[in-house]
Amino acid sequence: DKLSSQQAIELEEKHGAHNYHPLPVVLSRGEGVYVWDAEGKKYYDFLSAYSAVNQGHCHPKIVDAMTHQAKTLSLTSRAFYNDMLGKYEKFATELFGFDKLLPMNTGAEAVETALKIARKWAYEVKGIKENKAEIIVCENNFHGRTTTIISFSNDPVARKNFGPYTKGFIKIEYDNLQELQETLESSNNIAAFLVEPIQGEAGVFVPSEGYLAAAKKMCEDHNVLFIADEVQTGIARTGRLLATCGNCTCEDKNCSGTPEVKPDILILGKALSGGAYPVSAVLANNPIMNVIAPGNHGSTFGGNPIAAAVAIAALQVVADENLADNADKLGIIFREELTKFCKNNHLVESVRGKGLLNAILINDSEDSSTAWDICMKLRDNGLLAKPTHGNIIRFAPPLVMTEEQLRDCISIITKTISEFK
Ligand code: PMP
Repeated sequence: DKLSSQQAIELEEKHGAHNYHPLPVVLSRGEGVYVWDAEGKKYYDFLSAYSAVNQGHCHPKIVDAMTHQAKTLSLTSRAFYNDMLGKYEKFATELFGFDKLLPMNTGAEAVETALKIARKWAYEVKGIKENKAEIIVCENNFHGRTTTIISFSNDPVARKNFGPYTKGFIKIEYDNLQELQETLESSNNIAAFLVEPIQGEAGVFVPSEGYLAAAKKMCEDHNVLFIADEVQTGIARTGRLLATCGNCTCEDKNCSGTPEVKPDILILGKALSGGAYPVSAVLANNPIMNVIAPGNHGSTFGGNPIAAAVAIAALQVVADENLADNADKLGIIFREELTKFCKNNHLVESVRGKGLLNAILINDSEDSSTAWDICMKLRDNGLLAKPTHGNIIRFAPPLVMTEEQLRDCISIITKTISEFK
């Protein structure tokens, strides 16, 4: 039987662990840039499941690939080979320009995997003494919620009472090259620098122009691996196939980018499957990836045939529909219009972002619940968005949006905030 929104919420509240703080809306269908609630009300999705649904909800080509593969062969585990995984690995390594791919399921798992690879590389290739490897991370990072990852999180809610934590991380300020340089010089035991090309969960912080390239160069000079966590920024979200792709416009459909920064290890997740299925991946070249030997690492579901089929289809959609270019073009319009708006509105202090990963900053002097209350009003007016932290609202719609739809959304957002009391 179909549940009402109220019934669905009551069931979750009673039987589900309270690990999230959802906006009170119950979704039961999605198509493209739209989702519908249990009562049939239609909304623009301006979160895209934290940038996972870049290709739009229920993209027919992704759904076809998934259902076909589900009817053919869904899971073998990697006790055996399957006839989809190699195809996907070839496709993705050629597209992103790496020798090898290690398949995982979620973003956090892929981050964990990258950290394990970096440590093993540090001991076996770089020659750091065992158990001494250190990894540089950034303040206010978000890389997931496993015990190791929260060991270097700044978020007290994610961290508190989950210790003891994993050792071996040095935290430096994001977008601070001098501190990176000093940290690299401070120790011979540094294995890697793990960084988000744009800090998404922290509130969409875009680093200074040239930061990533300069950081990568510094790492290279110290024989330290540069690990890019593109779980949120990757797959066309920021107007490039990857946020590390610099100024490449991805007009070439099979472009692996002329990277501004070629990471030593690239982490992907979320939109790698268009949000249709949990698919994440770690990519690296042979000298790094070959430290992983049989038995070192794995997952029952990682690299399963459905995941492989879905990821190929999802990446193909990004190329066929020029989603990077579309995100780039619409992002410029979005920021232009919201910048104009915030000049005359005391509630919105600024707008920032890249491509279709953007955020507005609600005036600090407002109550800390203002951003949440604005999102509730946006919901009433048919648009779903959520604050990342306190007074920052992230706007990240599916990249299949048209200019007309975007302009309609801009008008909902500006009207809602103008009328906000
Ligand atoms: N890395 C980044 C940059 C992310 O934004 C996220 C999710 N918000 C993750 C990792 C974790 O991904 P998952 O939730 O799939 O574990």
